[in-house]
Amino acid sequence: MEFPASRQGALERLEGFLSGAPRYAARRNHVLPGHPHVSRLSAAIRHRLITEAEVVEATLRRYPFRAVEKFLQEVLWRSYWKGWLEMRPQVWQHYTASVQRKPDDGQARAVAEGLSRSGIMNHFARELLETGYMHNHARMWWASYWIHHCGLPWELGADHFFRHLLDADPASNTLSWRWVAGLQTRGKTYLATGQNIGKYCAPEILAAAGGVGFEEGVVARTAGGEEREDESASPLEELPAECEFRNGEKTAVVLHDEDLCLENSPLANVRPALVLQFFPETDSPLPAPRAEWLAEARADASRRATEHFGCPVQGCSSREDLLRESVQQGVTSLLMLQPCVGPLRDELSGLSEELAGCGMKFVRLRRKWDSVLLPHASRGFFPFWNKAGRLLAKSGTETLT
Ligand SMILES: Cc1cc2nc3c(=O)[nH]c(=O)nc-3n(C[C@H](O)[C@H](O)[C@H](O)COP(=O)(O)OP(=O)(O)OC[C@H]3O[C@@H](n4cnc5c(N)ncnc54)[C@H](O)[C@@H]3O)c2cc1C
Repeated sequence: MEFPASRQGALERLEGFLSGAPRYAARRNHVLPGHPHVSRLSAAIRHRLITEAEVVEATLRRYPFRAVEKFLQEVLWRSYWKGWLEMRPQVWQHYTASVQRKPDDGQARAVAEGLSRSGIMNHFARELLETGYMHNHARMWWASYWIHHCGLPWELGADHFFRHLLDADPASNTLSWRWVAGLQTRGKTYLATGQNIGKYCAPEILAAAGGVGFEEGVVARTAGGEEREDESASPLEELPAECEFRNGEKTAVVLHDEDLCLENSPLANVRPALVLQFFPETDSPLPAPRAEWLAEARADASRRATEHFGCPVQGCSSREDLLRESVQQGVTSLLMLQPCVGPLRDELSGLSEELAGCGMKFVRLRRKWDSVLLPHASRGFFPFWNKAGRLLAKSGTETLT
C-alpha cells in the first residue's frame, strides 16, 4: 500500500525513507507525482501503528540531531497540536458545533469535488477523494483557496478533510485550518499565490491540471474576526504511564483507533482476560480509501494484540456494546489508553460513571511521550520546540518512553 496500513509496513517505510532524511528540509515543500520527498507515514503515525517515539529514535540512531532537525520538528508538530487542543477542549467543541450550523451549499460541494475554477485545486481535490492523501503544501494551498479565494467557511473545509484524509486527526486538522484562516495565530493568515504554487508544484502536475486558474491579488479574509473565541488553557489531566496488575482482577483492555499498538504501550504488561476492540460505527459510511485503510490497520492491530496477550478479542461497535460486553464477561477493571480530544473522546464521555455504576473500575493511561510533551504546548510551536528539541538533542527519547 502507498500509505502503510500495517505496523510492519510502516516500519519498512520508515527504514526506506530515512536514507534521504538529511535532504528532507530542502525537498519537503516540493509537490511531485507520488510524493517521493515525504514519508507518507502520517496515517500510520496518527493511529500509532508506529509511534512518534519510534520514528524519532530510529532517526537519531542514524543521524546527529542537527542533520535531521527539520524532520524531527515535523514529527513533533503532531504532539504540539495535540497538546494545544488537549488543554483547550472548548475549541474542539466550538468547531464541531459550527460544522453543524453551517449549511453545505452548492459552491462548497463543487470545490470539494474538484469542480471549481482552479485547475490545480481541482487536481488536489480529486487526489484527496481518490487516495485519502494530500501533500502538506497542497493542504495549505487548498485550505487557503477554500477560505480566502472562494470565501467558504473554514469549518466546512476542515470537516471535508476530516472525512476523507487517511490521517484525519482532530488536532492537526482543526488547528491547521484555523491557522490558514488566521485564527490560530491571530491576524496571521496564509494566502496561497500562483507564484508560490508555480515554484513548488511539479510542472507536469500543473500542466496536466490546466494551470493555477485563479487570480492574484486576493485579500485574505480573517475568519471569525468578530468575536474572540475562548482559548484559555486548562492543565493536562494527570494520568499514569504504567499499570500495575493486581491478582484477582478480571481485566479487559480496550483497543481503539487512537492507538493501534497495544503491545508497545503502557498496557503491554497487563495479563487481560479479554481484549475489547472498540471501533464505533460512524453516522454515515466513511469514504472508500479511508474505510479500506482503517479496516486493514484495525485487522493488523487486532492480530498483534491477539498474539501478544494470548486471550480472546471481542469486537464492540458502540459504547453500549462495550458496556454490555464488559458486564457479561464479568470484567472488574477496564483499561484503556486515553484518547485525545476528538470524536472518540466525545463518544466515551460519561463511560467512567456508567462503569462505576456496574461496579467496574475504569483505568485510563497515557504514554509517557504524551504526558511529558503535551503540557509544553501552552503557547506557540517555537517555545514548545525549544523545550522538546533540547530534550531530544540531549538524551534522545530516553526520558520520553
Ligand atoms: C489544512 C491542513 C490540514 C491538515 N490535516 C491533518 C490531519 O488531519 N492529520 C494529520 O496527520 N496531519 C494533518 N496536516 C499536517 C500535514 O499536512 C500532514 O501530517 C502531512 O502532510 C503528512 O504527510 P507525510 O506523512 O508524508 O509527512 P512528512 O513530511 O513525511 O512528515 C513526517 C511526519 O510528521 C508529522 N507531520 C508533518 N507535518 C505535520 C504538520 N504540519 N502537522 C502535524 N504533523 C505533521 C506527520 O506525522 C508526518 O507523518 C494538515 C495540514 C494542513 C495544512
